[in-house]
Amino acid sequence: MHDEPLDAAYYQDLLREHELSVTPFRVKLLKLLAKLSVPLSVQNIAAKFDEAVDKVTLYRNLEAFEHAGLVCRMYFNGQEALYEQRFTDHHHHHLICTNCGRIEDVAGCSIETPRTGSGFKINHHHLEFYGLCHECQLKKQGII
Ligand SMILES: [Zn+2]
Ligand SMILES: [Zn+2]
Ligand SMILES: [Zn+2]
Ligand SMILES: [Zn+2]
Repeated sequence: MHDEPLDAAYYQDLLREHELSVTPFRVKLLKLLAKLSVPLSVQNIAAKFDEAVDKVTLYRNLEAFEHAGLVCRMYFNGQEALYEQRFTDHHHHHLICTNCGRIEDVAGCSIETPRTGSGFKINHHHLEFYGLCHECQLKKQGII
């Protein structure tokens, strides 16, 4: 779903544009996030690194990215926080399986941004559809 990997200079510029200091770890983390196809927990993002990463450091950086609008934090089915980048991504929504927790992307958006009387400035939205994935449907029918 995501574009081809971009070079370090792209990520350095991205960090500067968002008024974040440039560190090798942040560049590495952005690169990694750009490659992910589904939202992942801090634990699962940490596991994607070749070397051991401090979870608190990782969490703090994800939080900084979230505040800067580079990353979205989501909670599905009352699970732990899941993170997904939104700097290279095409806008999409998620399908959540209520049986196994599988997450799939679904393209297309028919949401019209509402007018807000209060002066609230909307910058993006999230939308999830809940149901059963194909595999869980087959399991339910006793086919697999
Ligand atoms: Zn997604
Ligand atoms: Zn968001
Ligand atoms: Zn499922
Ligand atoms: Zn949408």
